[in-house]
Amino acid sequence: MGNRQKMVFGNWKMNLNKKEAEILCNELNDGLAIADVKVGVFPSFPYVSQVAENANHFSIGVQNFYPQETGAFTGEVSITQVKDVGAELALIGHSERRSIFNETHSFLKKKVDASLVAGITPVFCCGEPFEVRNAGEERAYVLQQLEESLFHLDKRAIQKCVIAYEPVWAIGTGLTASTEQAEDMHSAIRSWIANQYDQECADSISILYGGSCNASNAKELFSCPNVDGGLIGGASLKSDSFLAIIHSF
Ligand code: PEP
Repeated sequence: MGNRQKMVFGNWKMNLNKKEAEILCNELNDGLAIADVKVGVFPSFPYVSQVAENANHFSIGVQNFYPQETGAFTGEVSITQVKDVGAELALIGHSERRSIFNETHSFLKKKVDASLVAGITPVFCCGEPFEVRNAGEERAYVLQQLEESLFHLDKRAIQKCVIAYEPVWAIGTGLTASTEQAEDMHSAIRSWIANQYDQECADSISILYGGSCNASNAKELFSCPNVDGGLIGGASLKSDSFLAIIHSF
């Protein structure tokens, strides 16, 4: 199994206001003191520095950034700016960024590179839409996402990344991949990394599952040999469900 770390990350998306973010952060501080799991949350931009300043036992990430250092990019935020206010992680390739904001494989590749240059951990999301799974083409689809945006990295660089497999049909839908479906894709991802790099490298990279993971199904999903934790959307917005997921290892 290698020495890979267990992780649970919460993607707050465009939810919570300042006060709610503060309350959730405090509740996580209280509930996390004993957890032997790397925990991270991804607040909306306005609250990133506030949460980063108050977080005691977890890391802060950003849901987005623009892969240029500085310049005339009105409305955009650079990875060094978010690092400056305490972020350590960045979501890259989330299906909502791919589908709503048309982020392409080559653009995501630039984001991966910019993030690594800044010393921020890329949390690279991949996963197939429903039609692709229905056609039985999910493996080829996910492999292409990895090949186009991640497999240009050398071994040292890819070992700094976290991968999140998030079947699009399971995100925010209440449908969860079965343990067989999750384990099947996670072990495929690990074997592609082993083919591209080597087994030691594949065994050191954490691969998280995302898609309607909650306090009731996390234990079963996290018991799969190749599932190293979860990327959680809806169930990360309340401390009781998020903490229950973290403690289900
Ligand atoms: C996500 O958006 O990354 C996600 C997994 O959402 P949810 O848990 O709500 O399906």
